[in-house]
Amino acid sequence: MTKTKRDGGNRGRIAPTPTGYMHLGHARTFLMAQQRAREKGGALVLRVEDLDSARCKPEFTESLIEDLRWAGLEWDEGPDVGGAYGPYDQSQRAGVFIDAWGTLRKAGALFPCECSRKDVQAAVQAPHDEGSELIYPGSCRDRSSAFESEDEARTVNWRFRVPDGETIEFQDGRKGLQLFVAGVDFGDFLVWRKDGIPSYELAVVADDIAMGITEVVRGEDLLLSTARQLLLYRALRETPPTYFHCPLVRDEQGVRLAKRHQSLGLREMRRQGVSPDELLGSGDP
Ligand code: GLU
Repeated sequence: MTKTKRDGGNRGRIAPTPTGYMHLGHARTFLMAQQRAREKGGALVLRVEDLDSARCKPEFTESLIEDLRWAGLEWDEGPDVGGAYGPYDQSQRAGVFIDAWGTLRKAGALFPCECSRKDVQAAVQAPHDEGSELIYPGSCRDRSSAFESEDEARTVNWRFRVPDGETIEFQDGRKGLQLFVAGVDFGDFLVWRKDGIPSYELAVVADDIAMGITEVVRGEDLLLSTARQLLLYRALRETPPTYFHCPLVRDEQGVRLAKRHQSLGLREMRRQGVSPDELLGSGDP
């Protein structure tokens, strides 16, 4: 019942992080992913991005699956869980990330880094607040290092060396041509944490490749991440998917929805008698 190979067809995915309950913004993005996969006659995969064990909770995974089903989301494959398809859990897929890290390292695309803990801690979560981007100053770029084994090498932090000054461009399915300059809009970014966890950027790319994803649908707050991820695809010598970045859902004050917006949480909307059909149809909240 599981299948994680490229099959030549169109494949989309939804990739929630179980650190809280889902809100209207997630639902709209995921329903868009489903609609686009269906239109192309393709399959949809559910991948739970639960690598950060300190923040991800099994009860949030359970609730998000229940909320997804209520919202009308159906995915087309996954491990057998009592006769239904379960999600793929990133926490069970360490080998995929270790392989991708090894390939990048052998290609000379990475360097070990001893810089700030705060920087490093943030890396495992998708960087939704791009405004606060700090450009890595390059302190460890040329530091020499030797490791006795691959296992030992994975006990330090590793960054991807970006090609300073290069413009990374891509066509977004909704927003058109996007341009970002490496070293200006973003700097050398983390791919591996010394506690053995890949960063968000590496985990997403390694998994999208392993799962044969052909289109990524996600929020437009991850446009800059797409530029970083395209560099990973190139260094890994893999073909990137196409991208479609959805508008963010905001509250009446224009603030992007977050877990604190309880009234626009799917649980609360369901409790108040909102129907799944109304989720997409209601325009702005
Ligand atoms: N787990 C990531 C998030 O919650 C997924 C982002 C992506 O679709 O790449 O934002």
